[in-house]
Amino acid sequence: MDLLNIKELDRWIVGDSWINSEIHDHLNKLCDEIGPRWATSKEERYAGNYLHEKFQEYGLDVERDNFEIESWIPRNFTLKINESSLDIKPFNRCPSINIKSKIIDVGFGTEREINFHSKNLTGKIALMDHGFEPFSKPIHYSLRIKMLVSKGIKAIIIIDKKIGRRMEYHSVSDFRDSNPQKHSVPVVTTSREHSVLLKKAANNESLVSLSVESEIYNASTSNIIGKIKGKNNQGEHLILCGHHDTVYGSPGGNDNASGTIGVIETARVLSKMFNFFDIKPNLSIYFLTLSAEEQGLQGSHHFAKTKYNKNQIKPRLVINLDELSTGPLKGLVLGFPHLRDFLQNKIDELNENLKVHVMSQLDPTSDHYPFLAQGIDASHLWRWRFDKRHASSEFHHESADTSDKVNIPELKNYIANLSRILFRLSITETESWPSNNISIEKLRERIKQEKDSVIRVF
Ligand SMILES: [Zn+2]
Repeated sequence: MDLLNIKELDRWIVGDSWINSEIHDHLNKLCDEIGPRWATSKEERYAGNYLHEKFQEYGLDVERDNFEIESWIPRNFTLKINESSLDIKPFNRCPSINIKSKIIDVGFGTEREINFHSKNLTGKIALMDHGFEPFSKPIHYSLRIKMLVSKGIKAIIIIDKKIGRRMEYHSVSDFRDSNPQKHSVPVVTTSREHSVLLKKAANNESLVSLSVESEIYNASTSNIIGKIKGKNNQGEHLILCGHHDTVYGSPGGNDNASGTIGVIETARVLSKMFNFFDIKPNLSIYFLTLSAEEQGLQGSHHFAKTKYNKNQIKPRLVINLDELSTGPLKGLVLGFPHLRDFLQNKIDELNENLKVHVMSQLDPTSDHYPFLAQGIDASHLWRWRFDKRHASSEFHHESADTSDKVNIPELKNYIANLSRILFRLSITETESWPSNNISIEKLRERIKQEKDSVIRVF
């Protein structure tokens, strides 16, 4: 394909991404009509059906990847001092508890603070700040929780970092753990404002009542896959993915209607473009919306483990979209370095000043991680980190993450550029891709070493 044609196709892609955008309809459907999409709920199933329909409408081959997960749901939960109710949000998979006990303020849960209270922790409730102690090496909070449990603590109340009585849904686990779902004691969150009352109760040695009724159950769910088939008959392919589930109680505008829409809109634009110009990519492109990211990346783990467990052809590249409202597209972040220069050359053609980076740790905070853990080249978008992050974009695991949190012009720009990048990669012959020589044994060793280290997300 010559340069002139590529420019013509770029113009078509950018025009279609902006002028024929269906972002409004998707947002309305996913966030406002369906609402929270906790994996295994009927709402999540509706969302899956909608995405399935859309892939079909856009002319892709669609598959449903059905599987069972162990899910969890909190039925009732209260936190009280005397008869006054305080803000509470159980952590993912918090077990049931009904306790009335004294509370100990352990600050940030550093070793020093825990040792200071050491003799006084057995049978009590601990109150701990979710943030890092500002003057010492950051300790992953799954480790801080483990330290408290080893001292005989019965339950932990975590103080959310946000202000204004906002509380996020959290998970205890380090997802690099071999059994990330393990939850040894009940852990719940309270708001920063109500933590003041709990600190007073700690000083006065007043009793605090904590009650959580929750249930763990097995249920089925699905990942949805739409495929644009390429000419390559070896099964060579690329993946663009994003999770379609949300945390409980959140309509998930930023997290992750933004990424889900990024996937289906890019599918729409590219499928139409290939048809319109009557061209076929070399590599197939799989558009994948994943379930249960918010419950330990279970949909992505299932997909990566079951589709690539034997000698199947692995994807040349996976691009994971999560929380695209946090800032403008800045580039790609890879887990492994060997594709770096190759991809940088490709995206330089766009002339959008996008950069390819490589993380020094494998990032376990979203659905690219299960692919990385199988030695597959997976990336997420540079938007996560530091510069040009919108100050107003702190909405993800909470009820206020509504459809208005999605920045539509920026999302159009993501879709136009992702379409241009995937188009270029899909017509590149497989011989020109640098080969992936990752050794799975060395990778397992690396993951073990990196476990418990703090990942700088923001
Ligand atoms: Zn997410």
